[in-house]
Amino acid sequence: MQALRLQSTKLLQLQDVPDPVPSPGEVLINIEAVSIGGSEYLGYNNPGLRPLPSIMGHGITGTTPAGQRVAVYPLSGCGVCEFCTADQVQLCDQWALIGVQSDGGFAQRIAVPEQALFPLPAQLSWEQAVFIEPFANAVNAWALAGVCAEDSIAVIGAGSLGLGLVAMARETGCDIVHVRDLSSARIQAACSAGANGTVGRTENRYDVVFDTVGSTETRSSAIKITRNGGKCVFMGFATPDAQINMSEVIRQQKTLIGAFVYSKSQFEQAIERVSCCKDEWVRNISLAEVEGCLTQFLAGKFDTVKIALRPNGYE
Ligand SMILES: [Zn+2]
Repeated sequence: MQALRLQSTKLLQLQDVPDPVPSPGEVLINIEAVSIGGSEYLGYNNPGLRPLPSIMGHGITGTTPAGQRVAVYPLSGCGVCEFCTADQVQLCDQWALIGVQSDGGFAQRIAVPEQALFPLPAQLSWEQAVFIEPFANAVNAWALAGVCAEDSIAVIGAGSLGLGLVAMARETGCDIVHVRDLSSARIQAACSAGANGTVGRTENRYDVVFDTVGSTETRSSAIKITRNGGKCVFMGFATPDAQINMSEVIRQQKTLIGAFVYSKSQFEQAIERVSCCKDEWVRNISLAEVEGCLTQFLAGKFDTVKIALRPNGYE
């Protein structure tokens, strides 16, 4: 099969590699659509936890040998600790993601544990299915923030993760849902998903603010636009560092929350929620187009809402 291997920083190679051989309890998935997002372009720029060479991509959907359309839950843990047994695998000290610590979806096929498979509804398109992984992140962040219908919401970054948060806000019944993004296509998609305004620089204050970007600037803006006593949720990984005025956080009694991935049940909940996503928000690309796309992302050019890798072609 063909696979894209990250050899080192900013070096992706399209290679012919042997098909994966499923171990007992595993299934060989023919990959149909893989979500490309922050983890991948940041990983391309800084492999981090990835053992090189590495096949990236953790938002994987595809077809089983029996013809079942599935999404792959990409997280695993030790299986026995207090977090694993409470469906909070991301808090396990041995958490691992397919596409990070082990080979992922930038390939034509992958062998994954049968228990990681979730069937897709028949009416869901592959384009909609690539939103499952980012929407699962939104389900987790929403639960951690404990948002209620009376809360005003700001979302910084209206990519697929931001759209998931907007969908959660609409479902909760929040009246004020404002987004911030540099891309007009993304703002438009967020408005059609239920956002009803854009975030001003500092004039507005919100009960709950989500930063899906994670740059030094977005983190400090997120804290600034959180109302006194409000909550600020951090989901983006653009940089590990932050410049935070802790005196302000303390005096204004703001709660800072980190939100990372999702439990198995949250992943399943996301599958029900992506039916609001539109096929036209997605640009399908081939394996050969991935590197160009990651380079554009790194240069800050996000002209589409979502990119889906289709390693076995598409109509
Ligand atoms: Zn564990």
